[in-house]
Amino acid sequence: MKKHNFSAGPSILPREVIESTAQAVLDFNGIGLSILEISHRSKDFQAVIDEAVALFKELLNIPEGYSVLFVGGGASTQFCMVPYNFLEKKAAYLNTGVWSKKAIKEAKAFGEVVEVASSAETTYNYIPKGYTIPEDADYFHITSNNTIYGTEIREDLDSPVPMIADMSSDIFSRPVDVSKYICIYGGAQKNLAPAGVTFVIVKDEALNKVSRHIPTMLKYQTHVDGGSMFNTPPVLPIYSALQTLRWIKKEGGVVEMQRRAKERADLLYSEIDRNKLFRATIAAQEDRSYMNICFVMADEYKELEADFMKFATERGMVGIKGHRSVGGFRASCYNAMPLESVQALVDCMQEFEKLH
Ligand SMILES: *Cc1c(COP(=O)(O)O)cnc(C)c1O
Repeated sequence: MKKHNFSAGPSILPREVIESTAQAVLDFNGIGLSILEISHRSKDFQAVIDEAVALFKELLNIPEGYSVLFVGGGASTQFCMVPYNFLEKKAAYLNTGVWSKKAIKEAKAFGEVVEVASSAETTYNYIPKGYTIPEDADYFHITSNNTIYGTEIREDLDSPVPMIADMSSDIFSRPVDVSKYICIYGGAQKNLAPAGVTFVIVKDEALNKVSRHIPTMLKYQTHVDGGSMFNTPPVLPIYSALQTLRWIKKEGGVVEMQRRAKERADLLYSEIDRNKLFRATIAAQEDRSYMNICFVMADEYKELEADFMKFATERGMVGIKGHRSVGGFRASCYNAMPLESVQALVDCMQEFEKLH
């Protein structure tokens, strides 16, 4: 039976990315060796990093004066690297979920943190608006897509101070005005590559402004100077990231990724809204994530949750269980998700409705 992979992360990758990665493990570039057993400083691997950086810049239309880094440690290490490198006195954070909260917690160790708004009291089921960002903040930090709750800031905000964004789960799903940000980071395992590599886009002139000492490995400048080769980078995930970037380009770039994301999301949300058995957890249309689509059983059908899970699993749906803090279901529809899989889930919901 065909599996429809809605996993939240690590998550679906284009089939050809997985195949070319498998091939590179067996024989990299036809050199008679595996990518796993050669130097990261070899010319073959240097070419991989160089092309990955170039494609990042091309696909996201990154202006001059920014560096693209591939490091280890996950997005979670960035929660501390960001304030380490950018927070001199005060930073502003928007609290839209668990990941924002973790970023806020780390930043508090470095200076004053202003939480400009929070949707915590309602289990983060909307994106706050109409708050004030202090003009003397060193930066304003957002989580652009809230993987757990299924809310997303789908357009670049306006801010009186430079922005920093955790784009772990929506990078390359839409065009981004990078010039509004001094730093964009994310774990690659949602929309780009297997787990193990973290991408960072950083504005060079925003670095080295804080007065504290920064440990070598946690200093962005180290990785800028070293071209992501100060130490051994996660070579295999970087190789896969390159394959994904090539795939995105071949498929039509981020504008096409955005079109597909909207098409998938429109299909699934309209079924959730129509089907009497289900209810979307995010009411406001403009806050609904295109990447992580969350829904629960409607109140009068609550007891059918386990039944639907079994029904859907028997029809090939994988990874649709909602996060434990929200419950219900979460269909993660990242870039590589084919429309047919979303249609298969919709069919499943319609068949289930007929039975009740
Ligand atoms: C998954 C996720 C993280 C955590 O990433 P790690 O690489 O596991 O540290 C952080 N932020 C967001 C938005 C995520 O979806």
